[in-house]
Amino acid sequence: MKVVLLSYTKDAEVLCATAARTCYSKGVPSEIKEKIAPERAGKLIEDVVSIGHHSVIEHAYYTFSIEGVSRAMTHQLVRHRMASFSQQSQRYVSMLDPEYVVPDSISKDEESKKIFVDAMDNAWEAYQRLAEKVPVEDARYVLPNACETNIVVTMNARELMHFFSLRCCNRAQTEIREVADEMLRLVKEVSPSIFKDAGAPCVRGPCTEGKMTCGKPRRKGADAGSIQKQHPSKS
Ligand SMILES: Cc1cc2nc3c(=O)[nH]c(=O)nc-3n(C[C@H](O)[C@H](O)[C@H](O)COP(=O)(O)OP(=O)(O)OC[C@H]3O[C@@H](n4cnc5c(N)ncnc54)[C@H](O)[C@@H]3O)c2cc1C
Repeated sequence: MKVVLLSYTKDAEVLCATAARTCYSKGVPSEIKEKIAPERAGKLIEDVVSIGHHSVIEHAYYTFSIEGVSRAMTHQLVRHRMASFSQQSQRYVSMLDPEYVVPDSISKDEESKKIFVDAMDNAWEAYQRLAEKVPVEDARYVLPNACETNIVVTMNARELMHFFSLRCCNRAQTEIREVADEMLRLVKEVSPSIFKDAGAPCVRGPCTEGKMTCGKPRRKGADAGSIQKQHPSKS
């Protein structure tokens, strides 16, 4: 798996701070923007976002290339309706070479790995035989969820915050969590103020997973015990 930040709003923090200031100012946005010092923009954004004025960070966009991931992962990713996607097509791209993702839980156990690899071999043998007789768009029906794919995704900062809340959580599936963690690392480098509190809900406060909590808060210094106490039924 590889995640690359292909493009992003270069002056995201000043832009979003301009949007925020516009709401509370008689001035025009083009002049407000000129007056906002980049080192002041972060604090402005933190202040408005902390009071729930989240629409101001919708002006910042981030585009990622997500490479060598499974279709099982992208199937979860594309459920995020506020994002834009462009995914490698199995109609137009031949899948004749077996390329698939093996989850760690399977690759570290020899018996599981053998079951998995046998299933992949069978699926690809069927695909190759079918592709000689029918269009690849139909032959692909036998390909597995593990099939490797590439996808470009664009999200604005507000949608990314929401995405990180759901997918950086330990309850999210491993592959999409690893992708989300890497996306978060990349956007924090370029827009640190916007994404200061981004991540699973337990980065900001108590776990929101109720009885399903993992009991392992990601917040530095957080007390896993206090989260457990909120959900006494969790063993
Ligand atoms: C741990 C986990 C387990 C999951 N298990 C399942 C499962 O078993 N089966 C399953 O089908 N899905 C499952 N999902 C997917 C989940 O139901 C969502 O489809 C997915 O997480 C996208 O979230 P979203 O709809 O909040 O986000 P987005 O589509 O990105 O939307 C962002 C926000 O915009 C608003 N919004 C978007 N569209 C609408 C709309 N039409 N109407 C009103 N408000 C809207 C909502 O506030 C939404 O939260 C799971 C997700 C997670 C994280």
